[in-house]
Amino acid sequence: MAQHATLGASSSAKWLNCPPSARLEAQFENPTSIYAEEGSLAHELGEALLRRDANALKKIMGNAWYNSDMQQHCEDYRDFVLELLNEAKAITSDAVLLLEQRLDYSLWVEGGFGTGDAVIVADGVMRIIDLKYGQGVEVSAESNTQMMLYALGALNSFEMLYDIKSIIMTIYQPRLRNYSSYEMSVIDLLTWANDVLAPTAKLAYEGIGEFKAGNHCRFCRAKHLCKALAEYNLEPTEPEMKPSELLNDEEIINILNRADSIKKWLSSVEEYAFAEALNGKKWEGYKLVEGRSNRTYSDPDKVADTLINAGIDQALIYEKKIKTITALEKDLGKKPFNEIVGDLIIKPAGKPTLVVESDKRSEWSPADNAASDFENTDVTSIN
Ligand code: SF4
Repeated sequence: MAQHATLGASSSAKWLNCPPSARLEAQFENPTSIYAEEGSLAHELGEALLRRDANALKKIMGNAWYNSDMQQHCEDYRDFVLELLNEAKAITSDAVLLLEQRLDYSLWVEGGFGTGDAVIVADGVMRIIDLKYGQGVEVSAESNTQMMLYALGALNSFEMLYDIKSIIMTIYQPRLRNYSSYEMSVIDLLTWANDVLAPTAKLAYEGIGEFKAGNHCRFCRAKHLCKALAEYNLEPTEPEMKPSELLNDEEIINILNRADSIKKWLSSVEEYAFAEALNGKKWEGYKLVEGRSNRTYSDPDKVADTLINAGIDQALIYEKKIKTITALEKDLGKKPFNEIVGDLIIKPAGKPTLVVESDKRSEWSPADNAASDFENTDVTSIN
């Protein structure tokens, strides 16, 4: 089983912003998600492809999470890493590629270590590449503290052997077509490590410091019970709202800025209260009831047989439905599917969605889609 540091790199945005969170959330269970299993397999596949490990590949292909899309994404990842390795070798002939390397950053963070998917060590520029197989949230490499901790761990191991001046950290997130890189000089990285990281990590390790809520709370296991987050979400958006009966534009924007965080927090509190109620807890003023349900066949085959025996035409009983594009691509393979019916696949314009300005998509205008129905406008996906 993989070991985890108390102050892990992947949770560093949380404990660097809110130092006491690391100890507080330790008392709550860490749920394993099915997506984590899928992500682990993609990492194994990426590594096996880079190592050309036929035995490992065979084993991976037998896993239920394996599919042709994963194969393609991981082959692209392999090609990307090898291209960077070749570039590094052109500068330093003894440049090396290290896979799944333990990166120890405990010089700055008590007990701190992580695992780098791919590290290319060479004179001049060292490269850290992190494969992210998730497709939920797009991750940027810019000032990404997880990557900066990996960079420190790699620097700690190799600075004696190579003349490293700067580090390029890259997030490779193929399912979102997100390839984000960020370069930092070694001097800037070490300044941050000594001035910001080390003192904050000390607070976090001791479980002290100030609770501070923000976007980083999203992945905190304590979020459903955390008072600091509740206060943050419930406090007025503007301490001094201008006297008026209606919200002004500025006040609406303030609410939009916090909408995603508030919705997620509300869901986590509701889920917690529901789970506790199922366990027998009685919340004053609330009760569990049976939800609404729809009628269903107890035995669909028997129903069909009975109707046919009663003389009902089969065409009235069954409906024929084509499989989804994703299902057919999975069954037939992406390439053959597209060769056969690619020109019959269309992509209708998506309905307008209100998102933050930094979103990579270009701005929608009514002229883009004259037929758009404003009633379909989606305001639920603001983030
Ligand atoms: S929910 Fe947010 S404020 Fe509360 S402990 Fe976690 S990170 Fe800190």
